[in-house]
Amino acid sequence: MCSYCCGKELKEFTTTYAAVLGKYTIIIKNVPCLECVQCEEKYYSDEVMQNIERIATKAKELNSELFVAEYKAA
Ligand SMILES: [Zn+2]
Repeated sequence: MCSYCCGKELKEFTTTYAAVLGKYTIIIKNVPCLECVQCEEKYYSDEVMQNIERIATKAKELNSELFVAEYKAA
């Protein structure tokens, strides 16, 4: 259930994840998530968050200020 609006229905969805981390802008395409049908709040699983983290670390290693990647599971 949605902890934002208390909506009961979450559907599986893929989204484009974008984050600004200091000077780095990271865009990850086709990220799996659950979306609340009522308020469109998105939820990511721990596993997905870890993969996002991993991709973000790679962007920093590459010193890529604008990093665009396709989502890949580890
Ligand atoms: Zn909601």
